[in-house]
Amino acid sequence: MTRTVYVNGEYLPETEAKVSIFDRGFLMADAVYEVTSVLDGKLIDFDGHAVRLKRSLNELQMAEPCSMDELLEIHRKLVELNGIEEGLVYLQVTRGSDGDRDFVFPPADTKPTMVLFTQNKPGLADSEASRTGAKIISIEDIRWGRRDIKTTQLLYPSLGKMMAKAAGCDDAWMIEDGYVTEGTSNNAYFVKNGKIVTRPLSNDILHGITRKAVLRMAAEAQMEIEERLFTIDEAKEADEAFTTSASAFVMPVIEIDGVMLGDGTPGPIAKRLREIYLDESRKAAI
Ligand code: PLP
Repeated sequence: MTRTVYVNGEYLPETEAKVSIFDRGFLMADAVYEVTSVLDGKLIDFDGHAVRLKRSLNELQMAEPCSMDELLEIHRKLVELNGIEEGLVYLQVTRGSDGDRDFVFPPADTKPTMVLFTQNKPGLADSEASRTGAKIISIEDIRWGRRDIKTTQLLYPSLGKMMAKAAGCDDAWMIEDGYVTEGTSNNAYFVKNGKIVTRPLSNDILHGITRKAVLRMAAEAQMEIEERLFTIDEAKEADEAFTTSASAFVMPVIEIDGVMLGDGTPGPIAKRLREIYLDESRKAAI
């Protein structure tokens, strides 16, 4: 089925949507993005994504392409036009184009480019991967220093995912100065003696919208949480581990660098948090 996508104010068949070859998103990855999940035809944690988008734009002195209310309307309309029950809405905003290539930013009144499209993913909430759990490898983190800004510079995370696939695994956790930063497209956690450990927020990691919600729900469920730096060796000795992201919710991790965690099946805390997260998020979806 041909999707209807959104480009700069227009809803078009995906085959007719066009962006300039001079667009700075294309030439320089001068662009930020958000991915919002859809369950039961409704948006999960839309406000969180909208607030983070605004922050990413501000950090890069990029113009806001529209109001947050308009953004919500566009998301909802695309979900409806494409009949999405379970899936994702991808949003990208770039600094636009003034018709040439230059390292210097184009004039401040250059119109940003805004593109949105849906991805239909039936079975997203009950994925096979979440029942099996993920196998992880560790790789060096060689990304730039502002990982708190959600830019489209995804080449290294993409290479990391390919390194994981080549090793017969599902994903990679990145390590900087001896400590785990995060997964290629998710935040990372391990559990030892009932305590959930994850890296604190800083410029070194993306401030996950799912991370925030899951930590709040874990605290409400009286689970113990410690936000601190941790090594991959600590994670390998953990009882269980997991990742969080808007596209995979809470994903259990069953193996790190070939070391099996627990009995090699998704751990009880990861499973419980996934249940709570899906349940509460469905209730709050808009
Ligand atoms: N960390 C990185 C590097 C990511 O790319 C993502 C999601 O794309 C996350 C963490 C998780 O963030 P969120 O929960 O907002 O999807």
